[in-house]
Amino acid sequence: MERYTTLNHIQHDIQNNKITLGGLVLHYLNNIEAKKHLNAFLEVYADEAKTQAEIIQQKIKNGTAGKLAGMVIGLKDNICYKNHKSSASSKILEGFESVYSATIVEKLLAEDAIIIGRLNCDEFAMGASNENSAYGNVLNDADNTRVSGGSSGGSAVAVQANLCLATLGSDTGGSIRQPAAFCGVVGFKPTYGRVSRYGLIAYASSFDQIGPIANSVEDVALIMGVIAGKDEKDATTSPREVEAYHPLPEAKKYKIAYIKEALFHPGMDEDVKTITLQKIDKLKAEGHTVEEVSFPLLDTVVPAYYVMTTAEASSNLSRFSGLLYGHRSKAATNLETTFKKSRSEGFGAEVKRRIMLGTFVLSAGFYDAYYSKAQKVRRKVQQETEAILSRYDFILSPVTPGTAFKFGEKSTNPVEMYLADIFTVHANISGHPAISIPAGTHPNGMPVGIQLLGKLFNESALLALAQTI
Ligand code: GLN
Repeated sequence: MERYTTLNHIQHDIQNNKITLGGLVLHYLNNIEAKKHLNAFLEVYADEAKTQAEIIQQKIKNGTAGKLAGMVIGLKDNICYKNHKSSASSKILEGFESVYSATIVEKLLAEDAIIIGRLNCDEFAMGASNENSAYGNVLNDADNTRVSGGSSGGSAVAVQANLCLATLGSDTGGSIRQPAAFCGVVGFKPTYGRVSRYGLIAYASSFDQIGPIANSVEDVALIMGVIAGKDEKDATTSPREVEAYHPLPEAKKYKIAYIKEALFHPGMDEDVKTITLQKIDKLKAEGHTVEEVSFPLLDTVVPAYYVMTTAEASSNLSRFSGLLYGHRSKAATNLETTFKKSRSEGFGAEVKRRIMLGTFVLSAGFYDAYYSKAQKVRRKVQQETEAILSRYDFILSPVTPGTAFKFGEKSTNPVEMYLADIFTVHANISGHPAISIPAGTHPNGMPVGIQLLGKLFNESALLALAQTI
């Protein structure tokens, strides 16, 4: 069977009896089996997917199928799906089964998407390489000695390796866009508040957004059209009307800014910089205006992000206490040892580091020096970003300073790992939508992505420009 990169093509071939949905599901199941070494899936719902394929094939025949009929998708392991396991790739949630579905899962199912399994990620979405999963590394399909990126590593590799058509990930500081860039696929973080977080296992609630990873911008737009919108169960969702994402509007001639401090950052890989500059030249040649702007706050975004997100994480993760759900230590003898031992045994090293860091920055003596200062940086970043976007339609940058790195290369130095988030955390601090699009191949053979950041809730224009790139 050929490799499909859009749902439109699949629907067309089903309509014309070239393929059946059952055949397509089997094709993906075979690919998952053949590419088991990548460790992208933590669990595959083979029988359910086959049964759903039969039902939806019939609906297609009757003309009653939903918008996503024919779309086979995977879910990051931090998105809850009723009566299915969700572990956030953590031992502390081993065996836990969701008692309800995330709003986005209900919306996807209502439009006849088929969920084929749950995908490996960094523990509680904390990481940039998937090396923090309790269930092992995810290998990059372009080079198995390199990381997938993270934290939605399984979600990116599943699309890259053709294990399903699209996936859902979550992005707190780049976790959709960075692995998408490392794997040569499209990843989109919507505006904060555009997509319901109900049923997403929280990392840092004022940053987290769910979004799609796909082979095409077109499929990203289709999925967004289904999952976006106000949700009574998530008070941070916006009541704003959802734009018509699909079909994408015609791309206009835009004004695009690129950040000088990003592109000419001392940590930038020379070839990634060259590929980005080539894209800028191409955009200019196509009639867009592309200009350099200054964003002196760039060096503050990573420290501010790690102060604020660890603070929120230390609070969010306090619910994993060994009492209500998940792992309870067998060595516990009373309430206090239940908390201490269950958490000590259940959480991995990076999650513990962040809980401690977050507890520290929120502690009475240090609150003003760290947490409240980081909040001020957040406001400034928002204001500066809005100022640039009052003069330009989009901000362009590399997604990451380099390509997918080798296993172990950064995992012993957390600060080095954190600094690699420099271009992605910006959009989560400010709340703006941002997309990662494949831009070329590095001389080392790995994919390179570029990022476009757009105006708040102005996602269709962002997707339209991304489509032309
Ligand atoms: N790499 C970032 C981190 O480790 C981003 C994670 C995310 O977006 N979930 O926090």
